[in-house]
Amino acid sequence: MTRPRILSGMRPTGPLHLGHLTGALDNWRALQDTYECFFVVVDWHALTTDYANPSDVRQNILEVTIDWLAAGLDPARSTLFIQSLVPEHAELHLLLSMITPLGWLERVPSFKEQQQQIQEKDLSTYGFLGYPLLQSADIMIYKANAVPVGEDQAPHIELAREIVRRFNNLYGEVFPEPQTLLTEAKRIPGTDGRKMSKSYGNAIYLKDDPETVHQKLRPMVTDPARKRRTDPGNPDVCPVFDLHKAFSPEATREWAAQGCRTAGIGCLDCKGKLAEHMLEKLAQIHERRPALAARPDTVWDVLSEGSKRARAVAEATMDEVRAAMKIRYDRP
Ligand code: SF4
Repeated sequence: MTRPRILSGMRPTGPLHLGHLTGALDNWRALQDTYECFFVVVDWHALTTDYANPSDVRQNILEVTIDWLAAGLDPARSTLFIQSLVPEHAELHLLLSMITPLGWLERVPSFKEQQQQIQEKDLSTYGFLGYPLLQSADIMIYKANAVPVGEDQAPHIELAREIVRRFNNLYGEVFPEPQTLLTEAKRIPGTDGRKMSKSYGNAIYLKDDPETVHQKLRPMVTDPARKRRTDPGNPDVCPVFDLHKAFSPEATREWAAQGCRTAGIGCLDCKGKLAEHMLEKLAQIHERRPALAARPDTVWDVLSEGSKRARAVAEATMDEVRAAMKIRYDRP
């Protein structure tokens, strides 16, 4: 029996952090049991924002893939590959651009948001406007039935569904409409309380060793009203407690909440316990990662094999697309 197919991807922007683990990787690992999974390192997407400085992309592809493998993505069951090694993504993107109204792209919420947030880069480019369409092509070329995403990415899947409908109406049924598989959103703040992100410099990385995790957690911001050890605090406004919700069992969460409200524990006690649970969660990754990092050739082999497998699927889809659009010029 064929399993339904999913596709999901990550940009190669550097080593992965706890937000990637709880927001995607834990879910992807579990999905491997029920779906035929395609996981893509989207290097062209990295260029939509980092076009001026592409020199890190190669190393970042390696870092991301090492983290994927260490976190339990299994190349024997899933296809792990690099977007640009399957150039058919670009061909489909181009063809889809012919049928996509500009307004559909301009109203994608992340377009305006990111243009405003990332002031230091000029994002008034054609590539940046078109990146959700490239995402649609990434999904459609594998005829993915579903896409696991966080809530912030849901509008992109909605766009892909609209594009599928438009394509199928114009040229005949080629693509299934991909469903959104919403990943349960846990708030993962960084050490400064803002959303964890490499660009904020507030991230705890999957590869951080125990000492580094402790060092990063110790100065982490807490409930700002709890200035002294004797002041009771409010875990509901404390980013450390958000991390407890993601990594600690219920008994520890209760201990932290109660100790905080009564000033029975200090913030360093609270963070120490959090570090213990975080490191339990990271233990398997820490165990597997060094061997993978020591053999980059093997990691590239995984990506090269996966890209070949992905390309065979993409080529077959493009054959259908060209035929449907009457641009497959077979000799009579
Ligand atoms: S005791 Fe824990 S939950 Fe309370 S303010 Fe300190 S770090 Fe935050």
